[in-house]
Amino acid sequence: MSEGLPALVDTHCHLVLLEERGLLGAALEGAAAAGVDEIISVGLNLDDSDRNRQIAEEHPGVYFTCGWHPHEPRVPDPRQLDALAALLHHPKAVAVGEVGLDLFFRPGYHEVPLDIQQHSFRAMLELARDAGKPVLIHDRDAHDEVLAAVSEVPGSRGIMHCFSGDAAFARRCAGIGFIASFSGIVTFPRSEGIQDSARTVADDGFVVETDSPFLSPAPQRGKPNLPERVAITAAAVARLRGVPVEEVRAATTRTAHRVLGIGTPTAAPAHG
Ligand SMILES: [Zn+2]
Ligand SMILES: [Zn+2]
Repeated sequence: MSEGLPALVDTHCHLVLLEERGLLGAALEGAAAAGVDEIISVGLNLDDSDRNRQIAEEHPGVYFTCGWHPHEPRVPDPRQLDALAALLHHPKAVAVGEVGLDLFFRPGYHEVPLDIQQHSFRAMLELARDAGKPVLIHDRDAHDEVLAAVSEVPGSRGIMHCFSGDAAFARRCAGIGFIASFSGIVTFPRSEGIQDSARTVADDGFVVETDSPFLSPAPQRGKPNLPERVAITAAAVARLRGVPVEEVRAATTRTAHRVLGIGTPTAAPAHG
């Protein structure tokens, strides 16, 4: 399926959660077969980030991030922040994330008060600034609150993961150094605003992701998602933009390399 096509990067997935479901081997083999040569495995808290580090050390092409998800019920304490900062020095640590704000409050989803989320987010934005790393932001129903928080930590830059805004919001994000990452949501019905962003964002202003094991794109919706399905999202974005899929694959890979500092001749070799 990927014969002769430019390689892809899945800029956001959770290999630890796939491993827990017994799907790590299938995820990595399927990704290789689909031309997904690089995978960013995203941390949700300190322990999860460290487990992602272990997976990244064991597999070429896998990188990891150090995160503190807005669903974390407590603000990271100084010891945890120090440990996350130390982990960020790892040669395969490429970003701080996922971090952000989530105003979609539901029993069983999350009920973390906004002020706790804001304290955690601020601490993680400062961590990224101090480490000179990009930030992977989780923004669910919190567009204005996220932009306000980011503007309080000048120098922040990175990726709006699972981009869920319209074209105007994509432009506001680009204006403060944040590109859009399109997920399988772009293939869902009733995603007109997101599809409009995918149509209009600059050629070098977006990447693609799966958020595996979540958010499987149509027609695989409802199954555990896998990194290989980033190819479905890339193809959907190409259709929306009216360009060949090769163009979207090449452009998103270039952009992912630039924003995350991977894939260049000067990138550090895989350790471990
Ligand atoms: Zn997220
Ligand atoms: Zn995620």
